[in-house]
Amino acid sequence: MAIYDIVKVGAPILREKAVPVTRFDKKLARLLKDMAETMYAANGCGLAAPQIGLSKRLVVIDAGDGAGIREFVNPVLTDPEGEAVDSEGCLSVPDYEGEVKRAARITVHFQDRKGDHYRLTADGLLARALQHECDHLDGHVYLEKVTEPPEGFDAGQAEEQE
Ligand code: ZN
Repeated sequence: MAIYDIVKVGAPILREKAVPVTRFDKKLARLLKDMAETMYAANGCGLAAPQIGLSKRLVVIDAGDGAGIREFVNPVLTDPEGEAVDSEGCLSVPDYEGEVKRAARITVHFQDRKGDHYRLTADGLLARALQHECDHLDGHVYLEKVTEPPEGFDAGQAEEQE
């Protein structure tokens, strides 16, 4: 078990497109476990690998629905439906919450730690967390989408750095 340091907004890796995972080995299983540990230790409900400094398409989420930790390897979102506005926070953005408009319902295609393929349709917090975390995999932070960005955050400048 290892708890990673969480990368904060402003770090270049949070602007990068993460690389797909191709090896489904013991190292991957350990990394997913460590990501969950790191997320729980920080009292978060979701974590993407770039947030611990790794350019990998990995996401862990505990949506508080009793399902416990969910692991998503190479997740791809499809079929967004509806709209929902709610408050979000991010472990990479300390002491801030902002309202974000997301699809109310979304389908995720992903692999598990063994490389098997799955599809899941989610709503509620799980749908929101999936959209938030998958944004991280494409180099986006939710501050680009909040209705009122915090002072000092310049989404335009962030785009240029990509
Ligand atoms: Zn985040």
